[in-house]
Amino acid sequence: MKNIVIFGAPGAGKGTQSDYIVEHYGLTHVSTGDLLRKEIADRTELGLRIKGIMDAGQLVSDDIVVEMIDKAIAADTKGMLFDGFPRTVAQAEVLDQLLAKHGRSLTCMVQLEVPKEELMRRLLERAKIQGRADDNEQTINNRLQEYNNKTKPVADYYAKQGKQCLVDGLGSIDEIAARVRQAIG
Ligand code: AMP
Repeated sequence: MKNIVIFGAPGAGKGTQSDYIVEHYGLTHVSTGDLLRKEIADRTELGLRIKGIMDAGQLVSDDIVVEMIDKAIAADTKGMLFDGFPRTVAQAEVLDQLLAKHGRSLTCMVQLEVPKEELMRRLLERAKIQGRADDNEQTINNRLQEYNNKTKPVADYYAKQGKQCLVDGLGSIDEIAARVRQAIG
């Protein structure tokens, strides 16, 4: 059973490549960003609490996303693709513990590498097409800053475990998908 993390800066193509990975390997896709956006759309108590934080491009607290991931792992039988999680080293440590609790371990972390200027270009383009509340220039800058400060260290965490697979995130969607499959094996 494969349990995979797809990792990269905002705009690196995690969501797009996730669709290909879950289809190819028959995995359950869990995107913390999607789960959080659903809470906001459903106007739940949690959704109301996190809306301002997400609109500002900041990370929500670790315990909120950890609880979501705990539930998702408990409900899964196929193996999982974690998209947008872990985003802090604390989250990565908890993920290892949660997987171990269920007799699993992480297969690998696939890191999509995309230069900063290209990230900005893609995010601004997505803003036009999808109209996501957090895809404006100010918020995008905040999200890239959160990524640099809090999320980048997660890459070293997996590198030290020998689980980091670097993938060139430039090219056509199909080219990148082929590289990702090669990296996962
Ligand atoms: P994403 O769709 O993955 O780009 O996430 C959109 C927003 O959701 C982020 O900018 C954060 O505000 C929040 N978010 C998603 N995943 C996490 C996470 N693992 N930890 C903290 N905040 C998260």
